[in-house]
Amino acid sequence: MTLSGDNLMRVKRSNRSALLYALHQNGAMSRKRLSQTMGLTPAAITKITADMLSEGLIRESGALPTASAGRREILLEIHPDSRCALGVLINLRKATLSAVRMNGTSVFLEELAIPAQADADKTTELLCARLMALTEEHELPPEQILGVGVAVRGILTPDCRSVADSFGALAQKDYPLCDRIEALTGYHAVLENNVRALFAAQRFFDREGSDGPQFFLRCEYGIGAAMTIDGQIQHGSTQQCAEIGHIPVIRRGGKLCSCGKTGCLETVASPAAIAEAAADALSERDTPILWRAHRAAPDKPMDVEDVLTAAAGGDAGAGRIVDEAVIALAGALKSVVYLLDPNRIVLYGRMFDHPYFLSRLLGEMQEGMDGSHAVALEKSRYNRTLDRSAAALLAVRDCFDRGGM
Ligand SMILES: [Zn+2]
Repeated sequence: MTLSGDNLMRVKRSNRSALLYALHQNGAMSRKRLSQTMGLTPAAITKITADMLSEGLIRESGALPTASAGRREILLEIHPDSRCALGVLINLRKATLSAVRMNGTSVFLEELAIPAQADADKTTELLCARLMALTEEHELPPEQILGVGVAVRGILTPDCRSVADSFGALAQKDYPLCDRIEALTGYHAVLENNVRALFAAQRFFDREGSDGPQFFLRCEYGIGAAMTIDGQIQHGSTQQCAEIGHIPVIRRGGKLCSCGKTGCLETVASPAAIAEAAADALSERDTPILWRAHRAAPDKPMDVEDVLTAAAGGDAGAGRIVDEAVIALAGALKSVVYLLDPNRIVLYGRMFDHPYFLSRLLGEMQEGMDGSHAVALEKSRYNRTLDRSAAALLAVRDCFDRGGM
């Protein structure tokens, strides 16, 4: 609960922020419609839009046709090329550097391999040096750069400035990543957990405002999730909201998880867990289709796609492993449905591109559920592409939140 009062600067910032979000969600709008949508007087809208036009944040984009001879309503929109945002995404063994325009279109994108347990200082220096080189190569004027959005796997500190634990991406814990990136680039940095950043990017491209609760599930390295309430992505009391990958699903004797516990959902249902279980079970008798595929390419490490393809082709052993994963994952998602009552669950990750896995999961989600809890479960329409812009979009969103000030 906010107990502080509003001074004039904060009111100005808040109105400008609301205007940017209104234009982002609705596309071009007239001043009259902005006034109606935002509940501000036409005079107030005229003043705010005049300031933002002069700053180049918004631009005029045609006019509404009028039936009468009255004044035509000029449309306003966010100027997509007025500013750009930089992004640094740090995952396990991979980092992505990016820049996007105000509408999320890409200016540049570069992926770099980094070692697991990477030295945090060295890696941050290397990534920032390359990021700055890319901004020069693409001739991005410094005055147009909003800042750096930083997304990293793992848990952040409560102030969202440091990485408490990146579970193997960076070797150091409690690492002040925002401060370091600000010092190395000279730009303001905002930090978010990688899965929350992906969900924020999904919502940005969906142009969504506040609505019912939503849940975003990502299965890639491990199993991560993020959720919204009243349109806001939740962090929880210890920055671990929606960590369903670490719900215990095996009571005793489960496998060791990246979090240090045993028997987590991630150790059964993540792509790596499915591939690992299949490699352990590989035999001519139990997994004949997978066995033959492996014999044809013995040097290729077992991958979840191999297991799903074998299961889809009727391999009973592979099918059992996939079913175990599906049942565990669906069980966790059913808990989400009853707890959160979301209006949709978005699925993100390569497993959901496989029709066999997706249809098994959707089928399993029906088991034991009643009609009043039928939640729309859908693969993200941006599946496996949001990593390209998610980090940089954090800085665009930060600009919207600050009213472009
Ligand atoms: Zn775990």
